[in-house]
Amino acid sequence: MSGRLDGRVALVTGASSGIGEATALGLAEAGAKVAIAARRRDRLEALAAKLQALGADPTVLVADLADENEAKRIVAETEARYGRLDILVNNAGVMYLEPVEEADLGRWRRMLELNVLSLIASTQAALPGMRQRRDGHIVNISSTAGRVANPNAAAYSATKFGVVAFSEALRREVYQHNIRVTVIEPGVVETELRDHIGHATTKDNLNAWADSMRQLQSVDVADAIVFCVSRPAHVNINELLMRPTDQE
Ligand code: NDP
Repeated sequence: MSGRLDGRVALVTGASSGIGEATALGLAEAGAKVAIAARRRDRLEALAAKLQALGADPTVLVADLADENEAKRIVAETEARYGRLDILVNNAGVMYLEPVEEADLGRWRRMLELNVLSLIASTQAALPGMRQRRDGHIVNISSTAGRVANPNAAAYSATKFGVVAFSEALRREVYQHNIRVTVIEPGVVETELRDHIGHATTKDNLNAWADSMRQLQSVDVADAIVFCVSRPAHVNINELLMRPTDQE
């Protein structure tokens, strides 16, 4: 199969479900070789079978990315396997929503470690190779929660505002090395993300709100990511904000 991303090597974190899974498939359909990382081996292996059928020569990387050393390891293993890493999609994330006063700081710390620190660590690990080849694209998944801060989402928003800020500063540090940085900010996407909210009232309210609209599907976000990374080398889409049409 020939495509816009022939010869490119991508690593997608959080690829065992939702946006990451759809993105891995989209990149493979466009011709890229794809490494996939998350904790659930069974889900990754099922996806790898589909990627193999698309000719993406997949690599399964089982990792708990709340540990920054694991975030660095998956980058090193991708480079060792394919000899390069061209596209890093930092997508793994969790959304623990609860009022500040009731928050379990241990959970919030794990969310900060995964959503922010792990993304920084994988980026840091990918930069030397990209700088040496003067070629690379880092895609960071933020959210509309990285643009608008809502009650009961204080720490989640802190992580996603953090991803936006990190991405812009990073872009300005690396653009002269021909490395592109894109931050994606989706609104409501129908995935498993909301299943992990522990605070019952917040979960019920959010699910009712999401169910009131035609939600984005993971493939909608994946299409946007594939579009960004398949532009010609002189085009850097810095930021992409997308909402369901029905979302205010
Ligand atoms: P999912 O819950 O479907 O996907 C989350 C992914 O992250 C899974 O593959 C999960 O895999 C992985 N993950 C979670 N914890 C860890 C960990 N400790 N180590 C490694 N991987 C981990 O949700 P989405 O697809 O919706 O979420 C993807 C990204 O999109 C997140 O960053 C989220 O914040 C963002 N986003 C989502 C929106 C939505 O409405 N759904 C809107 C805006 C942004 P596993 O459990 O196997 O480890």
